[in-house]
Amino acid sequence: MREAGAMNDPMRRAAAILLLVLGGAALWWAGSGAPASASANDAMVARIAAARERAAANDPRLKGASRFEEGGWIYVHLEGEPGAMGYQHGYLLAPEIEDGFAAVSAGMMHSTRRDWEFFRKAAHEMLWPKIDAEYQQELQGIVEGLRARTGSNLDVDDIVAFNAFEELPDYYVPWLNKRQMAANAPNLKSPGNCSAFVAAGSWTKDGQIVMAHNNWTSYRNGERWRIVFDIAPKNGYRMLMDGFPGVIASDDDFGINSDGLMVTETTITQFEGWDPNGKAEFVRARKALQYAGSIDEYTKIMLDGNNGGYANDWLLGDRKTGEIAQLELGLKAYKLWRTKDGVLSGSNWARDPKVLKVDAPEFDPGNKESSPNARRARWDELLKENKGKIDVALAQKMLGDHTDSIEKKEDTNERTLCGHVDGSARGVKEWAWQAYYPGGAVQGKATDATMAKDMRFMARMGHPCGGDFLAKPFLAAHPEFAWEEPYLRDMKAGPWTEFRSGQSPKE
Ligand SMILES: [Zn+2]
Repeated sequence: MREAGAMNDPMRRAAAILLLVLGGAALWWAGSGAPASASANDAMVARIAAARERAAANDPRLKGASRFEEGGWIYVHLEGEPGAMGYQHGYLLAPEIEDGFAAVSAGMMHSTRRDWEFFRKAAHEMLWPKIDAEYQQELQGIVEGLRARTGSNLDVDDIVAFNAFEELPDYYVPWLNKRQMAANAPNLKSPGNCSAFVAAGSWTKDGQIVMAHNNWTSYRNGERWRIVFDIAPKNGYRMLMDGFPGVIASDDDFGINSDGLMVTETTITQFEGWDPNGKAEFVRARKALQYAGSIDEYTKIMLDGNNGGYANDWLLGDRKTGEIAQLELGLKAYKLWRTKDGVLSGSNWARDPKVLKVDAPEFDPGNKESSPNARRARWDELLKENKGKIDVALAQKMLGDHTDSIEKKEDTNERTLCGHVDGSARGVKEWAWQAYYPGGAVQGKATDATMAKDMRFMARMGHPCGGDFLAKPFLAAHPEFAWEEPYLRDMKAGPWTEFRSGQSPKE
């Protein structure tokens, strides 16, 4: 050993001298020309960016649009022609769109094991040709506004694929894998987004409609689901909805329109199916909120070109008639229930026997312990207990409810209406959420017919119970989710905050 070491010593010495020389050269290089030219370059890049921003800010398409932040939410007002509304959206939310796109696209690629080019191709070839012209213009406008503001490289295929983030990875890809009999296909399940209800008649305090919803998704995406969109389109009704930066539909969904329609939903667990010739769900959902003035019109628009993507139990209210409805929208089957005196709740279960049989064949309505069924039991109990007393204040409390209907005690897990799956060793196998999955209820909204008439709703960012999710200790305790580290952030709850159409920031 010593001999070998001695033999190597001259080589080590030579290497050390070479390093010293190279290091000195690098120091000399760094100490003279490089910083000067780098800073000149930085200054030039900054000047170009500033000029671009000035030009973009003076774009006439931004006229009438605005943005402010309150209660952890970002409120944006968009108005006018579709292309202009898109430009406003892309410009005003540019940093949030870039950030949201990075997190969402990483999640889509991670779960499906497909590259981004796959999703761009699906958007370009399958989705784009069936998108109504006005929404094509709006999506194109988002790209233009975004690029004008930040010099982003994202194009319209990226933005369309991103808009379809609830339908391409968990509906289209599993359908495609099955068709292609793909070997070692990942376990992909349709998502279970949300706890919600709509009530009317003898169930509510004033007999009018009350509607409430909390959004269940990964904390990675959910912490970014913090936009309040106030949209005054050239055609159709005015809309107030929560949403995701860069996405034209509410997507979780919660919205009201100026003709009296009140809309929310929860997804159908273990839904299977996709129609490549159909129209993207995000387009139909946006169109229905913009153009439907009745439950019938809403149903008609959602059925037109149904592609099976993001299949939901839509909970609807029409404040003009006091009627509420549930549209269970499968692909092969659907069912509509409606009443002026009742309550319709959702927690990600289908109930029509035909929809269950043909569209969600693996779902087990008899398994009381699953997240959808345990929450269904809790909704039944909680709503019955409060029959005749339900109002917006009570609805807000219900969205933060922590009663586990199986354990019969307070807890924070996948069976509570305010979901905290990161606290459960069981996870939710029906959605392919493994143990301690960092997901659950990420925000909540509530409104009633009176508020909807003046286009108002209450919203709380973060867990509706007010609890915080902290990323660092979670990742330290659960290294299996380390891939999320670049995207997973703290999700701190904000206060319940009222938003209304045409709102300006507090002085
Ligand atoms: Zn909670």
